[in-house]
Amino acid sequence: MAQLMPISEWFQKKEKYVQITPKTEKRPMPDGIWSKCAECGEIIYQKELVKNLWVCPKCDFHYKLAACDRLNILLDEGKSDEFDASLSSADPLKFEAEKTYIESLNQSREKTGLNDAVITVKGKIDSRNVIMAIMDFRFIGGSMGSVVGEKVTRAVEMAIKNKLPLVIVSSSGGARMQEGMLSLMQMAKTSAAIARFKKTGLPYISVLTNPTTGGVTASFASLGDIIIAEPQALVGFAGPRVIEKTIRQKLPKDFQKAEFMLGYGQIDLVVHRKDLKATISKLINFFTGELR
Ligand SMILES: [Zn+2]
Repeated sequence: MAQLMPISEWFQKKEKYVQITPKTEKRPMPDGIWSKCAECGEIIYQKELVKNLWVCPKCDFHYKLAACDRLNILLDEGKSDEFDASLSSADPLKFEAEKTYIESLNQSREKTGLNDAVITVKGKIDSRNVIMAIMDFRFIGGSMGSVVGEKVTRAVEMAIKNKLPLVIVSSSGGARMQEGMLSLMQMAKTSAAIARFKKTGLPYISVLTNPTTGGVTASFASLGDIIIAEPQALVGFAGPRVIEKTIRQKLPKDFQKAEFMLGYGQIDLVVHRKDLKATISKLINFFTGELR
């Protein structure tokens, strides 16, 4: 049998991956701070990075974004009405690994200022109302537990009720193992909600950001009428490391990267972050018969 990576090690690797993510910029950035691009190694003035929407000006590497920063980029004046902000996870399995689930939740809440790994809002894109759900990878790897599933489902239902287009920006390591089967059930729940939404004839635009994997890819993220990904975003079910270890073969270059997936028809568009809002706006206008 192939040598499998212990789960504790997998999490350590994830933690390392998370650390290259810039912290959310709720605070004003102090002057004179430089950082090194996690991809190309160039030294970048951080203010320039923020101005460039957290995309490396040298190599175009798209950094992960905090949900609030994503919201600022996509919605008119960054304004929105958030709903279901207070929903938070219980600990049904009394889960305990290196940390208890409650400890993980509390640490993520403190780090992000969020109650779980998604925010759901009503806002405007080029003066048109939309319902939007934005995942935040900093919260336990953007994992989908019962709260993420419930909030996404409620956002879809809100879009149905208000007859509004739906945009979901995904960023996820997959189902939240700390909630076991309850997390897996969210795949069916969110998918069923999207199926109900499709009967309205309104557009659902799914935006995949780096990384979108596991149960999120296997449910609502792959069900968009149009599926957009950011450049070089990792999109898949199991990650490349797990697949390589399982099949004991070297994977092709750029396997599971957005451009690779585009070539195989898994996604429809690869769009640079600076063009994302305009593209979503144009698609909504197209699908609602208001293309200008
Ligand atoms: Zn770079």
